[in-house]
Amino acid sequence: LVSRKKKAEDTVVEVNGERIGDGKPTFIFGPCAVESYDQVEIVAKAIKEKGQKLIRGGAYKPRTSPYDFQGLGLEGLKILKKAAEEQGLAVVTEIVTPGHLEEALDYLDVIQVGARNMQNFELLKAVGSTNKPVLLKRGMAATIDEFINAAEYIIANGNDQIILCERGIRTYEKATRNTLDISAVPILKQETHLPVFVDVTHSTGRRDLLLPTAKAAIAIGADGVMAEVHPDPAVALSDAQQQMDLGQFDEFYDSLMKFMKQYEMNR
Ligand code: PEP
Ligand code: MN
Repeated sequence: LVSRKKKAEDTVVEVNGERIGDGKPTFIFGPCAVESYDQVEIVAKAIKEKGQKLIRGGAYKPRTSPYDFQGLGLEGLKILKKAAEEQGLAVVTEIVTPGHLEEALDYLDVIQVGARNMQNFELLKAVGSTNKPVLLKRGMAATIDEFINAAEYIIANGNDQIILCERGIRTYEKATRNTLDISAVPILKQETHLPVFVDVTHSTGRRDLLLPTAKAAIAIGADGVMAEVHPDPAVALSDAQQQMDLGQFDEFYDSLMKFMKQYEMNR
């Protein structure tokens, strides 16, 4: 059902007035994890200032180590929703188990399924049974075919509001946290009718690569870019290495907007 052969037209996912997949790139910014109301409010204001409509932030964090910050859970969702609502933003947040879905639905606009859960089939079925858009991230060891099949689980359960997100895969390369598989973008666009995002934060794990990879994503035809922003990344409870601070966010955003204008003019 996600195949282009089944449906030739692009699927457009509408969230908070943004038409994701409708030609013009969309952006999802926000902290890695919800840490406090003040932290989210600062980032939400910066996003609103730029005229952007979506904010991300994790409340249930799938951490590699059980001793690392696990997220604020439902309390985090409440904080995120309050701060987002005050700035007119829609909430994108990860759910890690079907058991959390019901309590979370009132506090989110887009359900994120993380890389570690791309083949959690019960979770895919559960989010497929909701009427909320789903941002599905590629598993770090998933082939494109497996990624497409994961999306198929969601649509097969009745939900066609799916955004695919390339977030880098595991390779032998150590210079970046993961290897951004940029060619996955046009392949997914050809094979499916779904919008395709690129997460430049988790793919590179490097602040200095966020802008060049975001440009590459837009140039190759991605429908949007996700990147993490934190008021003070040095003290962030997760992903301290790669989140942008507010000054870096301004620079990143301005440079990307300039690039998009030039790119449009030269097309
Ligand atoms: C995230 O976006 O918060 C995240 C944990 O990313 P990923 O699932 O791609 O590792
Ligand atoms: Mn993160």
